[in-house]
Amino acid sequence: MLRLDLAGFARKTISVLLFVLVVALPAHADENIPDQYPASLLYSKPVEVIPNVWTAIGATAPPGYDNAGHNNNLSFLVTGDGVIVINGGGSYGLAEALHAEIKAITGQPVKLVIDENGQGHAILGNCYWAQQGVKILAHEDTAEEVTKTGHQSLKAAQDRLKERADKTCLKAPDETFADNKDVSMGTMKIKVLHLGPAHSPGDTQVWLPEEKLVIAGDMAFHERLLPIFDDTDTAAWLETWENRFEKLGAVYVIPGHGHPTNMTQVRRYTHDYLVYLRGKIREHIDAGGGLDKAFYVDQSPYKHLHTFNELATKNAGRVFQQMEFE
Ligand SMILES: [Zn+2]
Repeated sequence: MLRLDLAGFARKTISVLLFVLVVALPAHADENIPDQYPASLLYSKPVEVIPNVWTAIGATAPPGYDNAGHNNNLSFLVTGDGVIVINGGGSYGLAEALHAEIKAITGQPVKLVIDENGQGHAILGNCYWAQQGVKILAHEDTAEEVTKTGHQSLKAAQDRLKERADKTCLKAPDETFADNKDVSMGTMKIKVLHLGPAHSPGDTQVWLPEEKLVIAGDMAFHERLLPIFDDTDTAAWLETWENRFEKLGAVYVIPGHGHPTNMTQVRRYTHDYLVYLRGKIREHIDAGGGLDKAFYVDQSPYKHLHTFNELATKNAGRVFQQMEFE
């Protein structure tokens, strides 16, 4: 009797301790660094990845007041005859802060901004750049997204960022392209590409064939879990990846989210994750499973990624809804 009680007591103590541990310890300490560059609205100070190619790496946490909505990579190319900025940025203030960094690095003027898709963090800084007289280029589907969902994105940013979204307004691209466009400038050969459907409408890649560097946009993620949206076609994303993105033969990759890296790494956490999740959902469907349990298919090999807790079950549900009809 005494022994049983002791065992019960020990069990209770252990579960209380486990509860305290789980609640008290942040799962991913680095995701929780609220701001790496307090002197600027940017989340981090731009770094030079290879000569004349710079990027300000965004937080891998969801967008919020502390990171000022800078949760994606804002890059720029110093071409010798002007600067090309990749991504308008998530607000007027973020675009202005990036411009201050560019001016400290080079006297060359910014001549072109390229939006890598139609999401708020890519397009909401456009109006700052337009006020500086800089032309904005984007894929035609991105331009359509700005018209369709721009107001929602603006409202969401204003709600999240409060005064940090001041002066932010909508500005559609000045020029659009369909498949690709050569924007070579100064000493750099630069191609703007739309390789095919991937993460969201208008996904754009900027390719430097001589340096073998690709600014991949939301084609490629690592460090944090990628989000699958209602309009994300995961089968088409894999097709674009295998038949066109990999075939660029990039050595360096500046992904949409996460530090600059190489192809092996982004393949592991983008392509391979999509293949894995689709495999799990396929097994679930073949076993007669429904949507209710589809949310909880095993994704533990990816649980160390940032934003896993926010996105994993949503991703599984969306893949189920798509694959049900494949
Ligand atoms: Zn993004």
